[in-house]
Amino acid sequence: MNVPSPSFADPQRPASPLPRVVIIGAGFGGIAAAIELRRHGLTDVTILEAADELGGTWFHNHYPGAACDVPSHLYSYSFAQRRDWSRLCSPQAEILSYLQGVAREQGVAPLIRTSCRVTSCVHDDATGRWQIETAAGEAIAADAVVLATGQLNQPAIPNLAGRETFAGHSFHSARWDHRYDLAGKRVAVIGTGASAVQFIPRIAPLVDTLAVFQRTGNWMLPRENRCYPAWARALIERVPAINWLRRRWIFHYGELLTLLIRHPRTLGRIGQLRSTLFMRRQLPDRALRAKAWPDYTFGCKRILFSSHYLPSLGRSNVELVTDAITEITPVGIRTADGRERPLDCIIWSTGFRPTEFMFPMDVQGVGGQRLADAWSGGAHAHLGLTVPGFPSLFVMYGPNTNTSGGSIIFYLELQAAYIRQALEHRQRGGYRSVEVRADVEAASDREVQGRFAGTAWTQCDSWYRDESGRIVANWPGYMREYAQRTKTFEPAEYVYR
Ligand code: NAP
Repeated sequence: MNVPSPSFADPQRPASPLPRVVIIGAGFGGIAAAIELRRHGLTDVTILEAADELGGTWFHNHYPGAACDVPSHLYSYSFAQRRDWSRLCSPQAEILSYLQGVAREQGVAPLIRTSCRVTSCVHDDATGRWQIETAAGEAIAADAVVLATGQLNQPAIPNLAGRETFAGHSFHSARWDHRYDLAGKRVAVIGTGASAVQFIPRIAPLVDTLAVFQRTGNWMLPRENRCYPAWARALIERVPAINWLRRRWIFHYGELLTLLIRHPRTLGRIGQLRSTLFMRRQLPDRALRAKAWPDYTFGCKRILFSSHYLPSLGRSNVELVTDAITEITPVGIRTADGRERPLDCIIWSTGFRPTEFMFPMDVQGVGGQRLADAWSGGAHAHLGLTVPGFPSLFVMYGPNTNTSGGSIIFYLELQAAYIRQALEHRQRGGYRSVEVRADVEAASDREVQGRFAGTAWTQCDSWYRDESGRIVANWPGYMREYAQRTKTFEPAEYVYR
């Protein structure tokens, strides 16, 4: 970006003492940040985690079949590659145990304070520090705050008429109730997104009946995800180059998906054809196929990977319901055709509230400005990381950094390195705080939003957009572009106190 350079700190000035950094959230982002900071000598780090354990999304999402549809050799830290994954896309327990292992091995596990829910972060303009308050009433001061709570941590349950009146059991898929035995029950699943397509094939054989309430169909691609045979595991373990090559290959596969999404009229059609051929094979029944078929541009919503979901819809005890839900009744769900389906259990798989970043935490920057107000017209941040008026505050997996093709961990590592560079610069300059310039942030937001023009993301409604239609979740480009943009912290883009 072509901006004038500010005057720099006097090199003779002694460096300030180590900044006290508080990271909020002990998922993949928070752990990456803590490791990066400590490795570079920024050792005064505390991680506050609301849950009882580290893990973030992989602690909370333990529904049957929970797994990551991004292959593990890319959905893992570059500095902690493993060669003993049980299959291409690891199940939740394996990912959680990986993250716990890395946190332990890298020495950041002892920095985590669990069961510590942050309620507010308030900037003290007089001192330039942040005051963090927890639900337990504790006050913690910090020189810098890293918000690593992610985009997908607030389960959303739509406010359908009569929701509270349902007399049966219900829960959200992101808070699965394992104590409730689904065997022999009449169950409804509302929502058919990335989570639902993973657990529906698992529960369908157990339940008496399963009504799957779909509002929009999905474009799907195959994912068998069988356990590696012993010979393949042995080979992967003994020949390190195999893993390296697979990581490279999956990286480029992710970039290819982004290419298809960015060019829906041309290359995207090839992706759609691939998906069409797969889905036609998976759905031999024409009536069912017509019901399950998506009605939007390939890649606009998340492309889902499963070779098991569509066949499970064809089971005799499973019904795909596409009539709109009009009401939840005490005994079941009523749809627009007037039919009421009696149920024992409703599983809400209706996603998250991703556009309510940081909700319900209250973040107040310079002059008491609330982050929620700064983002009332749609969240935005320079490179998804820094917001004018919020000095020394960094957001991980912030606005416009979600990926539709690739691994979020790749982005999180880049963000961790960027934050570390910003704090090193603060340290070297003896500054109290570092704050992105408003004009720089506005320019980068315009550029990001401009890059969505003509892409598949703009061609339907999705959780990537806020109420005004602005795309606030996704990065509009390739992983390599984000890497290029975040590789070097550019001091001229910031102001210092
Ligand atoms: P989601 O993709 O947002 O899906 C929510 C589903 O609920 C959609 O089918 C949506 O329909 C439906 N829905 C929402 N409100 C509704 C309403 N009022 N009435 C009827 N249906 C309603 O949520 P998710 O499946 O939990 O996944 C969220 C994100 O988590 C994913 O996109 C992905 O980024 C991440 N995830 C990743 C993996 C992985 O393997 N990497 C696995 C799970 C989740 P519409 O489509 O019509 O809105």
